[in-house]
Amino acid sequence: MRKKLVAGNWKMNKTLLTSKELVIDLINKLPKNISDEVDVVICPPYTSLSLVSELLDKSGIKLGAQNVHQIDEGAFTGEISAPMLKTAGCEYAIIGHSERRQYFNETNHLINLKVKNVIKNNLFVILCVGETLGEREKGIYKKIVEEQVSLCLKDISNEDMKEKIIIAYEPVWAIGTGKTASPEQANEMHIEIRKSIGNIFGNEIANNVRILYGGSVNEKNSAELFAKSDIDGGLIGGASLKSDNFTSIVKSAL
Ligand code: PEP
Repeated sequence: MRKKLVAGNWKMNKTLLTSKELVIDLINKLPKNISDEVDVVICPPYTSLSLVSELLDKSGIKLGAQNVHQIDEGAFTGEISAPMLKTAGCEYAIIGHSERRQYFNETNHLINLKVKNVIKNNLFVILCVGETLGEREKGIYKKIVEEQVSLCLKDISNEDMKEKIIIAYEPVWAIGTGKTASPEQANEMHIEIRKSIGNIFGNEIANNVRILYGGSVNEKNSAELFAKSDIDGGLIGGASLKSDNFTSIVKSAL
């Protein structure tokens, strides 16, 4: 059985002070042995990573980054690399978030380079895929997502796919808009993504890969989404910024 995973993407929110408040609240509110049942990951902005890592200590909650550069070091002003994330305490990195694709022109090819580098540095990848509203309306959404999956995972070994990669299906039209995909719409796409992974890596790996749903998940809709056959948890944006909301979402995955 696939263990559920719930990840919080704080985006460009929270200073050192407010990061500290949120993490302390989360640790106090989540059940102590939560990691026995659900993997919980929080992804604060870079500036808060080290502090949050210290605060998380033995809480069982894991730390992730929202983005990463595709090589380890060099003259790339303003960028952060996977070895830096590791020393800041990260175990996960979100790659290919639609906001990175949309506002920072990240392509499937660049995302593939990032995935490879993150794996080389022994971090877990949360790879985001998902179609825009226009692509859904044109009826090409399955093709678009299939293409994202195959290009972003190009030349990844079966072993790395099995051990290191988590997929997040995040329809762009549902992110931060309050419009959630229905559980049926989301599950349909998760089944498609699992098929695409099966075509590349074989059915055993496809059956074991975790596919998270992201897009306006909140404490009211999470249980129904997470109950679907192929939805293995969520990537949560806005609702991860309030400890009560995020805690309820995590508990709904139990
Ligand atoms: C996200 O940032 O990945 C996300 C899904 O955001 P929201 O939950 O706010 O739609």
